[in-house]
Amino acid sequence: MSAAALPPSALLSPSAGSDEPRIVPPTPPPTDLTEDFEHLFAQLRTYLKPEDVDQIAAACHFSANAHRGQFRSSGEPYISHPLAVAETLAYWRLDPQALIAALLHDVMEDTTITKAQIAQDFGKVAADLVDGVSKLDRLENQSYAEAQAENFRKMLLAMAQDVRVILIKLADRLHNMRTLDAVRPDKRRRIARETLDIYAPIANRLGLNTLFCELQELAFRYLYPLRYRVLTKAVRGARGNRREVVGKILAAIKERLPACHIDAEVTWREKHLYGIYRKMRDKHLSFSQVLDIYGFRIIVADTPACYLALGALHGLYKPLPGKFKDYIAIPKANGYQSLHTTLIGPYGMPVEFQIRTRQMHHIADSGVASHWLYKDERALSELQRTTHQWLQSLIELQTASVDSAEFLEHVKVDLFPGEVYVFTPAGKILSLRRGASAVDFAYAVHTDIGNCCIACRINQENMPLRTELRNGDRVEIITAPNAAPNPNWLSFVKSGKARAQIRHFLKTKQQEESAALGKHLLAQALSGLGHRLEELGSAAWQRFLKAFSGKTQREVLTDIGLGKRLPAIVARRLLSGSVVDGPVAQGAGAIRVKGSGDLAIQLAHCCRPIPGDPLVGVIRAGQGLIVHTHDCPALRGGKAGHKEWVDVEWDADVTGPFEVLVRVVAQNAPGVLARLAVTIAEHDANIANVRMDEDEGATTALYFTLQVRDRVHLARILRNLRRLPAVTRITRLKENSPHHN
Ligand code: MN
Repeated sequence: MSAAALPPSALLSPSAGSDEPRIVPPTPPPTDLTEDFEHLFAQLRTYLKPEDVDQIAAACHFSANAHRGQFRSSGEPYISHPLAVAETLAYWRLDPQALIAALLHDVMEDTTITKAQIAQDFGKVAADLVDGVSKLDRLENQSYAEAQAENFRKMLLAMAQDVRVILIKLADRLHNMRTLDAVRPDKRRRIARETLDIYAPIANRLGLNTLFCELQELAFRYLYPLRYRVLTKAVRGARGNRREVVGKILAAIKERLPACHIDAEVTWREKHLYGIYRKMRDKHLSFSQVLDIYGFRIIVADTPACYLALGALHGLYKPLPGKFKDYIAIPKANGYQSLHTTLIGPYGMPVEFQIRTRQMHHIADSGVASHWLYKDERALSELQRTTHQWLQSLIELQTASVDSAEFLEHVKVDLFPGEVYVFTPAGKILSLRRGASAVDFAYAVHTDIGNCCIACRINQENMPLRTELRNGDRVEIITAPNAAPNPNWLSFVKSGKARAQIRHFLKTKQQEESAALGKHLLAQALSGLGHRLEELGSAAWQRFLKAFSGKTQREVLTDIGLGKRLPAIVARRLLSGSVVDGPVAQGAGAIRVKGSGDLAIQLAHCCRPIPGDPLVGVIRAGQGLIVHTHDCPALRGGKAGHKEWVDVEWDADVTGPFEVLVRVVAQNAPGVLARLAVTIAEHDANIANVRMDEDEGATTALYFTLQVRDRVHLARILRNLRRLPAVTRITRLKENSPHHN
């Protein structure tokens, strides 16, 4: 099969559509697009089964109906666009699902058709493909910082779960570029810029060279209209002078190659304007200095013939040093293969030559799409092997035969990396590890933002900080000046930076708090001995530190706070041998409990104190200060056994909520639990947990873990629960029951 240029865009005339139900395929869609339709389906019939062609025709009618009454900027009926996209895919010989998806690719965005409807009529694969293309369309409407085109491309590729989605998207973009004339100038420039930055490089990456060149050429034309016009004129002007040279070269080659027993097809072309423009720009040349505006292509039967032809050409004209490249021995990353050389032709005019086999030519033209192009042609095993070569160079496949599923799997590995790409509110793109949460994002932006984040908005919606980010998400972090990292974050953050920063913060904070607590405990102990901490001079500290530890004063205080040293002992040792003057001190005052956020102080899990409860503090080695209610059963009878009792009381402005355990005995009646729950909720408390006794009788015991603000709040809830007729008894539990831990 010959690799002609991509199918030309058809000129269509708008016409009113008739109402035709989507049956009896294949007949043209209900618009005057018969010619395009016939052309597409003639192409499809050359490589697809009749029943597949029928399905595609049905999709065509479906799409025409869905888009009925819609027109493109050019005035053409909208269906002309999906038809053109399908035609490009048919040229690549893509499978029926891709063709169906191409015809339907805009219906989800532009009409009321849903994915479920498409799945029902045309199967899940086609529906997934359409959905994939629609997602990319939505991404396109996001702005992106220009310097980040590379990341944007990666995000686009990562979002497409199937390489066919990208192929449809590229064919879509090609047709939009071909019809860009009809679009507003400002929009034209934006689309052209995007094509140059994003889509042309993707086409190049996938080895779709013909498409790549056409996209570049069209983008150049619309992005720099003036430069394009000037250059077009210049090339046209030069043509007259240089045409003669081309004729000479052509004649010489056509004589020389057969003389060397090489059977070859020789073509020539004017170089692409964008290529010439880039050369002028990058090398600061004027047009007259860009001499090689013609390129010759020589297509031969096999690889040895390529090198033979190269030898023959080098015998004919002198090669320009440093210009020879052997992409046959070392293919480009996208699988491209050819020999490139530049020869000095008649009148010293340099002319570029590309030499390749027909198989290499197909791959150069269609790249990844050539997979479908040759999928079923078993006779062409050599061709198939070559077709896959570009892929092999990417993924180091060892075997030559790769089936379709495996092929896609490998393409995926290469194209869709293990990263997610998300936007900052300013349009910057960050790449994070797959599975990353909003907290990872916050730390990736800045450590301070991570440390102070309290909430996030993802795509304008309030979401929990632990939410896993998806490609294309726009993430906004909400911070508060006094916020601090939560130890729970460590259970879901994915990035090393976030993890390290959270750990660092918590450790530092705990040490600070423990040191403050230790100082307080020491002051209390000294006060019990009739002294004040402030009275101790540095001499007493120096003596103590020298005699009893190699640590600093601060480290000793931290140890006391963590319960690793007993404050009473440290106090006595500090005082021993020192004479302290001054008045006997008053009490050092109680330690104030600020609530659940305290790291150095823990509320006991047995009695679960809440603000309003009288408190008792106990120091436990390695755990620091544990705060119980004064009547906690766990401490009963043990008070004498504990040496280190500490005075603690609630801080005036503690922040909750705090959890308490409540046991409710209620009559067995339908709806009792619901009534209890409603009453609790009415009084603004949460139920963190509820369990029920197993034994069945007239009554049941229910165990609630409630989240309350303080003792007054709890009392009000209990009072109202008690009023319920079904409730017979209520008690607040202060020890771990077998129902709770
Ligand atoms: Mn489209």
